[in-house]
Amino acid sequence: MTTNVPERLLREIQDHDRFLITSHIHPDGDAIGSSLALARLLATLGKSAVIWMRDPAPTVYRPLPGNDAVHIGETPPAGFPEAFERLVVLECPTPERAGLPAAIEALPVLNIDHHLGNDDYGVVNWIDTNSASVGAMVYRMAHALSAPVDADTATLLYLTLVTDTGGFRFSNTNAEAFEAAASLMRAGACPETVSRWLYESQPAAVIKLVGETLRTLELHANGRVATVWLTREMAQRAGAREGDSEGLIDYPRSIAGVDAVALMRQVDEASYKVSLRSRGAIDVERVARGFGGGGHPNAAGFTLRGEREVLFRQTLDALTEAVEA
Ligand code: AMP
Ligand code: MN
Repeated sequence: MTTNVPERLLREIQDHDRFLITSHIHPDGDAIGSSLALARLLATLGKSAVIWMRDPAPTVYRPLPGNDAVHIGETPPAGFPEAFERLVVLECPTPERAGLPAAIEALPVLNIDHHLGNDDYGVVNWIDTNSASVGAMVYRMAHALSAPVDADTATLLYLTLVTDTGGFRFSNTNAEAFEAAASLMRAGACPETVSRWLYESQPAAVIKLVGETLRTLELHANGRVATVWLTREMAQRAGAREGDSEGLIDYPRSIAGVDAVALMRQVDEASYKVSLRSRGAIDVERVARGFGGGGHPNAAGFTLRGEREVLFRQTLDALTEAVEA
């Protein structure tokens, strides 16, 4: 069952007026959609909210309403920290995930998340691992606070459901997610707009990047494990930018008989971001945790430094072990 919004969290929102909102590094649809929606909800309650993210949104999320106003980078926004009373951290199981230690240290944190193993690092912690997206939790907050949800906010919240459930296909898709989607549509959410953003707004470089990446496709463990990787050189060749790799992992994931997938993406000279996906009882969150990362049982990730070949072998061995367990 999904959990109710804690009274203490509602009071924290009601009793303060100036909020800073952040989410995780390399933000995804849920991170961006829930942040933008929460900022709009706070505004309807007569409060101010600034969004501060370490990294810019992937290209496909640039047209989202309010995205231009997001403060990006490690340099704090104007007036920080005095101009703010509370920091809302969305989608981060640990404070480090936000990539903004200065923000976490300076302000009391309201921690709202749906990941397993959240560290409860806030003055209030609302963790609902059954919620399909953090955006769905923000929607429940809107109800609990009697905050009106306008059409743009509804569309943003609907987007968080679509991205985190893979278009209502992944195992985290539940009745509550469909109920929230229906209710958001009644509030004016436009699924067609969301589909256009997500599936029909790719720069050509992204499609070239798919080609580059799929050339690295390998199958292991009798076809149950698929791997792909992506170096900075390949991204350059495709003309791709940071954030253009969103969704790449869905291609190897679509192969018949594949139960687990790893995408290893070079982020700088010696560091790699690994994304893992799995089906059914194969728990990739455990695999990711073993490398200092985290996530959900069927979608997780971590970052490692070192030689690509070595990291690739370590990742593949751990993933194969999880599949064959
Ligand atoms: P991604 O592969 O980046 O799409 O991430 C899949 C899931 O794993 C998401 O729920 C992420 O929040 C989570 N995740 C990815 N990387 C990390 C990390 N380094 N630490 C904790 N969780 C992560
Ligand atoms: Mn999420």
